Amino acid sequence: MIAVVKREATESQVKNLIGWFEKQGIRVNESKGEYCTVLGLIGDTTAIDIDLLQGLDIIESVTRISDPFKKANRKFHPEDTVVDIGGVKIGGGNFAVMAGPCSVESEEQIIETAKAVKAAGATLLRGGAYKPRTSPYDFQGLHEEGIRLLLKAREATGLPIVSEIMSPEQLPVFEDIDCLQVGARNMQNFDLLKALGKTNKPVLLKRGLSATLKELLMSAEYIMSEGNPNIILCERGIRTYETYTRNTFDVSAIAALKELSHLPVVADPSHATGKVSLIKPMSMAAIVSGADALEIEVHTCPKKALSDAAQQLTPDQFTDVMGAISKARSII
Ligand code: PEP
Ligand code: MN
Repeated sequence: MIAVVKREATESQVKNLIGWFEKQGIRVNESKGEYCTVLGLIGDTTAIDIDLLQGLDIIESVTRISDPFKKANRKFHPEDTVVDIGGVKIGGGNFAVMAGPCSVESEEQIIETAKAVKAAGATLLRGGAYKPRTSPYDFQGLHEEGIRLLLKAREATGLPIVSEIMSPEQLPVFEDIDCLQVGARNMQNFDLLKALGKTNKPVLLKRGLSATLKELLMSAEYIMSEGNPNIILCERGIRTYETYTRNTFDVSAIAALKELSHLPVVADPSHATGKVSLIKPMSMAAIVSGADALEIEVHTCPKKALSDAAQQLTPDQFTDVMGAISKARSII
């Protein structure tokens, strides 16, 4: 980090400032120029509040040279992280498909879907018991009963379970769930992130609707800084001016995240596009771009789905997409 001190700052002011940095374990390289003094700050500057520094009377400007995310950064951890979800590995060359309905609706629905996605080649079952809906009048999920049904589906198929958690208070209910999903709307729910950081459960962290990649990585940093390294980043489309698709699938984010971070990246073409017809081509695009996993919504009868009906695949459509996924994987 570089701090430029204004010309009019007195020597004692600069000395005090340097002393303040040093007290925080930061070495300061002072370079006095004709018009200003430049302070090169060396060490872990993550705890420095850049806005506070910028607000000081004697400071002209502050520039961060290195990324503020450290634990998620590939620079400090060049090898790929491999996350293990109930025996299914993701990252470092291990590829997985997690599939299932947007919402768990009934025992029959989730068990039938689990069997169908397993038969088509999925290795993880994903279903929502707690649903973050835009309208409070829409179906909100079966809650604890949904979790119980997911565990039944795991018993019936052996597939480990991925399900969305919405608040730290729900953690006891999720005790037996294999991977906790943090939805796009909760990407910056810092209390939730910190609570998940204190567990050792795999966390699937979705990119917020309008979050930059750095913001996503800073959210991962929240979880990691509390001690939990088991994170999978998820690109699920972002808000743009386009309305034909539900969101805009930021394919470049997959390759960019893998460049910036050692964490595995999962792509969610279902929420990214909101359209059944686009899930196959976008799954292939995600694989070619380096995705370590895919998250795809599948329902035994999408027309009757209680949430996200327009984007859920039938088991037959999913089988077809899985065929395309294998083809795409064979060429990379
Ligand atoms: C979901 O995965 O069902 C979901 C609600 O996704 P997102 O948080 O990406 O909108
Ligand atoms: Mn959904």
